[in-house]
Amino acid sequence: MHPTSGSGRIQLAGRTVHLAWLREHTPQAAGLLARARAEVGHAWCLCRSPALRLVIRCTRAGRYHLAGWPGEGDQHETTCPFHKLGPGHSGRDRYSTQAIKEADDGVSIHLATPLARSLDRPETHQNATVEPPDDRHARRTIGLLGLLHWLWEEARLNTWQPGLRHRTWRHCHAQLRRHLREATVNGQGLDSVLYLVPPFTPRAAAANTAALETFRNRLGRHGPTERRGLLLGPIKEVAPTPYGVAYRLAHQRTPLYARAALHARATRSYRPAFGKVAAEHGATRIALFVVERSPKGHLIAVEVAAMLTTGTYIPADSSHEVVMADALAACRRAFIKPLRYDTTDAVLPDFVLTDVTPAAYVEVYGIHGREEYERRKAAKREFYQRQQAQLIEWDITRPLPDLTCGGNIPERRA
Ligand SMILES: [Zn+2]
Repeated sequence: MHPTSGSGRIQLAGRTVHLAWLREHTPQAAGLLARARAEVGHAWCLCRSPALRLVIRCTRAGRYHLAGWPGEGDQHETTCPFHKLGPGHSGRDRYSTQAIKEADDGVSIHLATPLARSLDRPETHQNATVEPPDDRHARRTIGLLGLLHWLWEEARLNTWQPGLRHRTWRHCHAQLRRHLREATVNGQGLDSVLYLVPPFTPRAAAANTAALETFRNRLGRHGPTERRGLLLGPIKEVAPTPYGVAYRLAHQRTPLYARAALHARATRSYRPAFGKVAAEHGATRIALFVVERSPKGHLIAVEVAAMLTTGTYIPADSSHEVVMADALAACRRAFIKPLRYDTTDAVLPDFVLTDVTPAAYVEVYGIHGREEYERRKAAKREFYQRQQAQLIEWDITRPLPDLTCGGNIPERRA
């Protein structure tokens, strides 16, 4: 964290506290948050002067948490936990409030895939994946990749700060868990519907097994309802089985099984994540599964979204972007990887450098001559020119460009 900036300092009902303190002292924090909510109506983030408002949410379970004020994310210091890129830098912009609704009691998400089905009525055949790719209208539901990207963005796992040095699954798990507790999906608590693979340690092994068992028991038939769940974790290996594939996960012994047709579709839809070259760059891939329980108790994946990430869990759209993200981190740059969610036509920068003002952009050019690709490239260049922003371009047939911080900002304060 920035030692000289006010990032992470919060004012609550006249008292100044650090965000880390709030997270570590839950009972005292709840009292303070409740008081600030009743007396002031909101909290203040002190990363900048004048201070910025923060929403104090209280979930139906009575848990308090802070969130950025809608539409003000880009006004926070880039090192502030409430900082967000401005409009046009995330596929998040494409959803209506029916898909992602931010309210005083938390965020409610409408996932396109039903997670419960009534056995009394015949299944109405819905298009379970995503709405047709009509991006003229705001989407009313979110697809599986959209939910994965939403979680990554909320947990700021698409953000890199030079002070981080390394990021492990343990860190990701802790960040993501917090956001699971603050949201509902299709009316149910996201933390009960979604099983987030915990980091493995010999000491935690028994507790992890018990938690997975609890999750497994929630699935399947309960009275007139058949329940599904969500499972999020890093894929270690995809192994063939007589009926399809087994997804073996990092940190977890129990695999997920899927039919060959599902995996074939996933490979087509998430080519970078399942491509062979990715593994050569120390990359990893994260998957969000919709799972059912088989009669024998196996976990069966019925839908999957996957994303390629660096070894430090920064998402990347290709193995070249993995190389670029690692190179930026090695040059001690602060950057954000914009995420497209379910959109296919959004023109987003490959990376945004946040340690310069105005922010600079990084583009990785991997394909040549394809008309659609050249058109997007031209659109992006035009966009940066309009913004008068610095653009660093890497044509992957050439060596990496100079990525060190140019002379256009004051010394980094860290
Ligand atoms: Zn702030």
